[in-house]
Amino acid sequence: AAYFSDVPQAPPDGILKLSVLSRADSDPAKVDLGVGAYRDDHGKPWVLPVVREAEARLAADPAFNHEYLGVGGLPALTDAAQLLILGSDSPAIAQRRVYTIQTISGTGANMVAAVFLNQFKRPADAAVYISKPTWGNHRSIFETAGHVVREYRYCNYDTLGLDIEGMLADLRNAPNGQIVVLHACAHNPTGIDPTESQWQQIADVMAERGHFPFFDCAYQGFATGDVDRDAYAIRLFVERGFELLVAESFAKNMGLYGERTGCLHAVCKSADVVPQVSSQLNRLSRATISTASAYGAKIAATVLQDPALYQQWLVSMLEMSRRIKTMRDALRDRLVALGTPGSWDHVSNQIGMFSFTGLSRTQVAALRDQYHLYMTDDGRISVAGLNSHNIDYVAKSIDDVVR
Ligand code: PMP
Repeated sequence: AAYFSDVPQAPPDGILKLSVLSRADSDPAKVDLGVGAYRDDHGKPWVLPVVREAEARLAADPAFNHEYLGVGGLPALTDAAQLLILGSDSPAIAQRRVYTIQTISGTGANMVAAVFLNQFKRPADAAVYISKPTWGNHRSIFETAGHVVREYRYCNYDTLGLDIEGMLADLRNAPNGQIVVLHACAHNPTGIDPTESQWQQIADVMAERGHFPFFDCAYQGFATGDVDRDAYAIRLFVERGFELLVAESFAKNMGLYGERTGCLHAVCKSADVVPQVSSQLNRLSRATISTASAYGAKIAATVLQDPALYQQWLVSMLEMSRRIKTMRDALRDRLVALGTPGSWDHVSNQIGMFSFTGLSRTQVAALRDQYHLYMTDDGRISVAGLNSHNIDYVAKSIDDVVR
């Protein structure tokens, strides 16, 4: 028998399967609302002007080379990323109790955190609680790292808003000291975020139960267009005295997707545990990737450290988040105008890259097979895939299958 004959077939990845189907469809009417990547009003990927400028500067720099970064990553990036996520006035940074390691984008930050937590979590049998639903990779990452994964209620499937009572009850009823994965903003796949007062309630229950927060922050600046507002929850928890981990991605907010640029931040109780924590995070990272990717890190650091480029970056994030918001409203307005059965306000009220439309699996399949419109089976659309050229067609198609 073949050495690998007992290897079971892994379940297919929904998103990857969808992009294969979409790529194979050459119908001119096709609309890809699957992939979570920003598109401009012509449906094209957008290289941010500040990224072009940073690339030009790197290309013109005679000192530029392709040497390895250090194990912790590019200090110019990790320092700037810390300030971006925790705020320039963060007491935790001033007290030198934060360690930041550069990672392979947000996914790598999740994985390093998952392995680290599995080795050092207290109690040792703590489970990891993820929202129902969540980014498909969360379960896979935390189970691969050896955790038991459980779910807490999050989406109210009737209103397509937050089930705050269910969420608080599940966190309250969990044993003390569990690890809780929270989306810092722009929840994937639902686009449903807690309000500031709901975050305070979540923090209250987590403190009462001694749960450990792990924030996944893949969309800072992409939700509201304001990097500080999108970091509200993280900063609230730090202010409340929680120790926590934060996975940060520059894929979406800087459009660096394939350059794999991100960081993992560990906010510790006090400066004296930082050497222990940093040594273990460095060791784990060394064992898996040795050193992080240099090119995207140099681009991101250039943008974050140059005051003029930084300001220009904020404007681009505002532009992306505004275009997405405009498309949400446009889709809602068209469905209302068509008299499409059901309520569509949730499309407008949700935030970030995605909308959880509430379309059923059957409707999703019909949209794909008869209308060349691609979205994930759970009815999630990437709102960035909508534009002024396809919005009427998308609304009409949804209207047809809902009737
Ligand atoms: N977490 C969440 C919730 C995400 O939506 C994503 C992007 N799809 C990621 C992490 C990681 O993305 P990346 O590895 O490209 O930074």
